[in-house]
Amino acid sequence: MSQTAFSSLKLNPDLLKNISSLGYQAMTPIQAQSLPHILAGKDIIAQGQTGSGKTAAFSLGLLEKLDVKRFRVQSLVLCPTRELADQVAKEVRRLARTIHNIKVLTLCGGMPFGAQVGSLEHGAHVIVGTPGRVEDHLRRGTLKLDNVTTLVLDEADRMLDMGFQEALDAIIGYMPSQRQTLLFSATFPEQIKSIAKRIMLEPVVVQVASSHDNSSIQQYLYKVDGDVDRLTALRLLLLQHHPESVVVFCNTKLETEQVADELRRHDFSAVALNGDMEQRDRDQTLIRFANKSASILVATDVAARGLDIEALDAVINYHIARELEVHVHRIGRTGRAGSKGIACTLFDEKDAYRVARLEAFIGQTIEVKPLPAFSLLQQPAQKPLMTTLQIDGGKKQKVRPGDILGALTGANGIAGAQVGKIHISDNVAYVAVSREAAKTALKKLQQGKLKGRSFRVRLLWA
Ligand code: AMP
Repeated sequence: MSQTAFSSLKLNPDLLKNISSLGYQAMTPIQAQSLPHILAGKDIIAQGQTGSGKTAAFSLGLLEKLDVKRFRVQSLVLCPTRELADQVAKEVRRLARTIHNIKVLTLCGGMPFGAQVGSLEHGAHVIVGTPGRVEDHLRRGTLKLDNVTTLVLDEADRMLDMGFQEALDAIIGYMPSQRQTLLFSATFPEQIKSIAKRIMLEPVVVQVASSHDNSSIQQYLYKVDGDVDRLTALRLLLLQHHPESVVVFCNTKLETEQVADELRRHDFSAVALNGDMEQRDRDQTLIRFANKSASILVATDVAARGLDIEALDAVINYHIARELEVHVHRIGRTGRAGSKGIACTLFDEKDAYRVARLEAFIGQTIEVKPLPAFSLLQQPAQKPLMTTLQIDGGKKQKVRPGDILGALTGANGIAGAQVGKIHISDNVAYVAVSREAAKTALKKLQQGKLKGRSFRVRLLWA
């Protein structure tokens, strides 16, 4: 029997029959690696992108455990958006279609609350929902989780990006500590590791992308001289690589301002970050860079220390770092999970001795590449994927991520998939939305209410 045949698992025969009738012939890698542990009752942390078959992995786990005769909520699946919750609920129902009388209910923000209360009164076995709305039901006592045996956090990194940490903590407080917790995430920033430590018991880690070492980074040198100034070289590299997120490192604060100004003059979405800026401006800059509404961050090494970005598409050294360790630290920030990062360094005649020292330090020669053709300069600069909306209300006004998400995605609103990171500070909130949805999102927030109040909202174009 093949290791990846579903029949190799200890699954209820009805579930197995249904799986083959759905045309699932073999397990996907994430299913093959996680299902044996899930069925053994273990907590797991798994890396699963959309399309990996992760939904079926946790759905089969929770269905196998379900006692249909006990009409209580036994499983809770939390998802970042309504669209994802709807897809998950659909997959659970498809996989459960040979189990009679199983009730799967979705509880998402942006949908009428009263109707959900009515459905909850009729009872359900599995709840699939978004954190804000699930928390609301718990607070009002319309949902009870005392009998939950399985908790699934789907796209956990997205949920944290959207500011749902507090809602997740609150929800977990309503659940028995004796339960199985399954966490799926595409990336594993510190925040995920710390949440896993708090809420999981000896989790089995499945197919986590290996953290890259510096040998997976492609390093290139580009020579600038009298004919090509650094700024033109930088523009050429940006036009060639079209990075979604790139840090351009400068050696002085003044240079970060000058380079960012010049890039903006050429229509790039660049922001400067240095220690001379007011704290509030620094925070806002980092938020806009992290939520992808500014693609180029021009920073000093000291200022970039506060950068909590998992990985960048590229790092460009406008000037080679004075210290070798600093250089290695800079380039170590590039490279997304599973893919190679690019580190470009501009140098001139005077930097030659530093390049030689660097090569000796890392024990390899770095390829000197010709700059892309100048004709590239005729092309327009790429615009960022997202735009930030600033809402003049925050924690102190009790604005929560679920409120913002609900207000944006309700009737005549934008799709959940068009909403990016949500960041809530004391008196202000920032939400990233897809660039093409920005105007609709702005109108929706300006016309609608949050917490029954109108807040001033504006777009921060990069
Ligand atoms: P997901 O990554 O959970 O969004 O699933 C991606 C798609 O793959 C869904 O349409 C599933 O129905 C389908 N799928 C999940 N597991 C399998 C499998 N073992 N064989 C074939 N298709 C699958």
